[in-house]
Amino acid sequence: MAPLWPGRLLLPAARRLGGRLRGSAAALGPPGSGSGARPCSGGGGGGVLRHLLLKLRATGPLTVAEYMREALTNPGQGYYTRRGGVGGDFVTAPEVSQLPGEVVGLWCLSEWMAAGRPAAMQLVELGPGTGALTDDVLRVFKQLASLLSKCDVSIHLVEVSPKLSETQAQMLTGGKVQSNSEDEAAYMKGISKTGIPIYWYRGIQDVPQGYSFYVAHEFLDALPIHKFQRTEKGWREVLVDIDPEAPDQLRFVLSPSSTPATENFIQPEETRDHVEVCPEAGVLIQRLASRIEKDGGAALIADYGHDGTKTDTFRGFRNHKLHDVLKAPGTADLTADVDFSYLRKMAQGKIATLGPIKQREFLKNMGVDLRMQVLLQNSRDSATREQLLHSYDMLMNPKKMGDRFHFFALLPHHRLTPPHKEHNLQSKSPLPPVAGFGELLLK
Ligand code: SAH
Repeated sequence: MAPLWPGRLLLPAARRLGGRLRGSAAALGPPGSGSGARPCSGGGGGGVLRHLLLKLRATGPLTVAEYMREALTNPGQGYYTRRGGVGGDFVTAPEVSQLPGEVVGLWCLSEWMAAGRPAAMQLVELGPGTGALTDDVLRVFKQLASLLSKCDVSIHLVEVSPKLSETQAQMLTGGKVQSNSEDEAAYMKGISKTGIPIYWYRGIQDVPQGYSFYVAHEFLDALPIHKFQRTEKGWREVLVDIDPEAPDQLRFVLSPSSTPATENFIQPEETRDHVEVCPEAGVLIQRLASRIEKDGGAALIADYGHDGTKTDTFRGFRNHKLHDVLKAPGTADLTADVDFSYLRKMAQGKIATLGPIKQREFLKNMGVDLRMQVLLQNSRDSATREQLLHSYDMLMNPKKMGDRFHFFALLPHHRLTPPHKEHNLQSKSPLPPVAGFGELLLK
């Protein structure tokens, strides 16, 4: 694709630079170092642990998936439910730099153009965090407004955390939102600072059908996983139970026999001794596949992960440090690497998949180097230039986000393979390549 970068984009307010990447085992600097550092969340917690201890005493061990769901999204006390904004527990690419959001905006526009510029387009972001990525996408849409002048664009955010939805509303609309009544699919709505309608939902099932781009940036790694261990007696599920030596603490145990999950999720040809499976990610991919097959559009998933090769990746982060996953649930972020091979399998051939491709390659293919040159030329002071270079290094350095984070796309089959082969043999215009997944060729 020839880069669509708009001529001049305003730089947003300085983004954070310091802190822990969730996909990384190496600290990247002291918490909150760098400009624009935001305060830590953290907090006392205790509520989720008390609730879990009662539950464990009443009903016995829980699956890791049940444990993770309670710790992260328990309606009153979960980590994300309580996380007010911008936590100091980890940093993500859109919080570090404007480039990932701009690239996602351009990717959607280039796919929209390849689809013949449909009259309406929904941008659906799953788990928008602070709203930084959508904010950057909206700035690109505004800069390229003439291109979109005949398109009815709307933004749809799937966010389970009331507090984070407030942060997003502040970032994207300046706080001008209204709550909807219970019987409406969206629980909140507003108008972006650039004049585009924005809706908030609790789940993807509530988002209206239609030509859409689904974006999930560091979302799937937060969905609950099941863990399995191979033993001499066969596969067993890893469960969470009360530690008999310390009755107010938790420990991992193995199920005494196989569980419904071991039967359903472990493939007979599995060679690893330890496996993690995220069924919620599987269901999500199936839903996206059905929607994209029916209404067109695409999904772009960006996360750290592997192609069915890794074993134990479940970990916790608190205040930019690795945190014992079983300690003080609800006060730390819990995450597991995304298994892209599982996502591919769940698409079930309904739609085509591209990737995973390393973030470093995807961003390069999208022309970020040219974009960086423009940003550096336009920056007025050396502090801004330094910040730009530092965030570029975070995104692209193979030891930081560059090789750990991957992009993965879901697209309708006809986007990659023309439906009428014969017709296309005669056609002079072959399908344009999907941006980002092949090398950038400048004309
Ligand atoms: N995409 C952002 C934030 C990633 S953190 C970024 O890259 O910066 C994960 C986000 O997903 C948070 O906004 C969290 O509240 C949300 N989330 C976690 N589990 C969710 C679920 N089950 N349904 C909807 N949102 C969820």
